[in-house]
Amino acid sequence: MYICKLNNFIKFALFFIALMAPSSFVESGSAGQLTDELDKRSDGKMHYYFSTKYPLSKNKKNRFREAIGRWKAADSALIFKEVGANEADGAVHVQYKAFSKGNAIAYASKYRIVFDATGVKWDTSKNASDISLTRADFKATAVHEIGHAIGLDHTNKTYGEKCTRLPATKNWVMCPATSLIGAGSRHPSSSEKQAVRSLYPN
Ligand SMILES: [Zn+2]
Repeated sequence: MYICKLNNFIKFALFFIALMAPSSFVESGSAGQLTDELDKRSDGKMHYYFSTKYPLSKNKKNRFREAIGRWKAADSALIFKEVGANEADGAVHVQYKAFSKGNAIAYASKYRIVFDATGVKWDTSKNASDISLTRADFKATAVHEIGHAIGLDHTNKTYGEKCTRLPATKNWVMCPATSLIGAGSRHPSSSEKQAVRSLYPN
């Protein structure tokens, strides 16, 4: 019953965003992520490739791959796969690129995930315990943006006020401010994993 209601709520949220949102919007706060084209991946594939024009460092690529693993662990029917640029049809283009979109530090759409190459001090530590208090957690941000690319909205919209009550913020990867400065949440909550299974049922 609860799952059913949750699922309908997500569908409603996605529909509402598709209907009402401009092509992009900037989140409030001192820094944040930006999202547009929030949509389910209708082909059931989350294929991605690393940009050659706007390349990620080796560490960033590895953190991104680990972030993909966190969503694989949701055990949905969605197929995650890293592909080459020559297999890019329908795939997400992962870029490290200077951009200017309000105060966003990264953003995602169905076909792009972009991390800001200027103005953000990233920490690419593998372990959350090593993240600097003055830098942004790249891996946590990657988990968050991949969540958008596979069709998830922000947790505070989908599940009420979860994101406004600390320390709950640290337990939900889709909070708008989950990955700003210092270590963010890198593990999708059980509800966020359930949301992915609802979008891509086995
Ligand atoms: Zn976001």
